[in-house]
Amino acid sequence: MQFLYEREPSRREAEVEVILAGEHDGRPFAVLSDTIFYPEGGGQPADRGTIAGVAVLDVQRAGDSIRHTLERTVAPGPARLELDWARRFDHMQQHTGQHLLSALAEDRFGWKTTAFHLGPNVSDVELDAPRLPAGPRQALEEAIAAEIRAARPVRAWRVSRPEFEGLAGVRTRGLPEGHAGEIRLVAIEGVDLNTCGGTHLASTAEIEALHLLATEPMRGGTRVSFVAGGRARRRMAEHEERNARLRGLLGAPEQEFATTLEDRLAQLQSAERRVRHLEQELAEAAAAALVAQFAAAGEPVAVSHFAERDAAFLGAVARPLSRAPGATVALLTAGPGPAGPFVLVAGADFAGDLAALGRIAAEGLAGRGGGSGHIFQGKAERIDARDVVRLALLRARGGVP
Ligand SMILES: [Zn+2]
Repeated sequence: MQFLYEREPSRREAEVEVILAGEHDGRPFAVLSDTIFYPEGGGQPADRGTIAGVAVLDVQRAGDSIRHTLERTVAPGPARLELDWARRFDHMQQHTGQHLLSALAEDRFGWKTTAFHLGPNVSDVELDAPRLPAGPRQALEEAIAAEIRAARPVRAWRVSRPEFEGLAGVRTRGLPEGHAGEIRLVAIEGVDLNTCGGTHLASTAEIEALHLLATEPMRGGTRVSFVAGGRARRRMAEHEERNARLRGLLGAPEQEFATTLEDRLAQLQSAERRVRHLEQELAEAAAAALVAQFAAAGEPVAVSHFAERDAAFLGAVARPLSRAPGATVALLTAGPGPAGPFVLVAGADFAGDLAALGRIAAEGLAGRGGGSGHIFQGKAERIDARDVVRLALLRARGGVP
């Protein structure tokens, strides 16, 4: 049968009968005497809306009937249908736009459409063109705009198979498998004649505009993404909003965004190099100061905390400390909070088991780590427990009775 969505694609509501209500895979569904809801197919997603006030979650063909998956069960009997028209009209703009795009790509440039996908933000077609140079691509977009301005009527009707086979110049990506009975044709006057079961605008003028976006190689052809109608306007508005923000952030007109950003990134890289160099110098100075401090104090265990530094800095301090004379074991910690990195480092004359001391430190700081020789490093949840850990390490080294 021909459903309402086919006979009257602009119909937004209807009174029908729920003739079957049930559950499939644990989800409630309804079959109706007629429907304004388009079932997913031909690259166009299923419609949304309500049946007797209950949300429609999906619409799929099931043999000759159409199955509406629902948020909850509805009772058999009369029911009012309401279509999510904004979503449907958007789909009609993208879908009818695709007909125009595919027809002109084939007739003007010889690029056949091999696939169509209507996405939530952008849609795409796959053309059997190895690549899409900028010139022809722009010419294609101009040709589409001209046909939108021409406000060409769009019409859909059904023919029998013998009639269909007698027709010349019908574009088709193939009929669905097992298709029997009548065949639905869609024509854009003077531009296209196609087999299609989808929903379409009444005129190309309703497409408003179609803009080609990115192209990428795909299965030997080229995938071209596009936006049409309200999506093109919304995308433009988003770009304007983003540009206004970037103008403020970069302090440059939009024509200079890329060069301004390139300059800023180069400055940032140079600043990062300087910071790395300065941190290395700072770590070496800190290590030298600690060596002198340990020698003066003569303590077997020392603690030092660097609130503004990180694990890399601790490593840079620990390396020269491990080569310096003396047997002091130093617990180094870094970071502003209770959690952070730690390093346990022993001087060159240390002859004990640093890994064993490292495990005591890790446990006392509620952390974990590893190492051998003269450096043991890790991460801990409680680096603020360093003074308690210092006592435990002193005991382990026999420094506390
Ligand atoms: Zn169509």
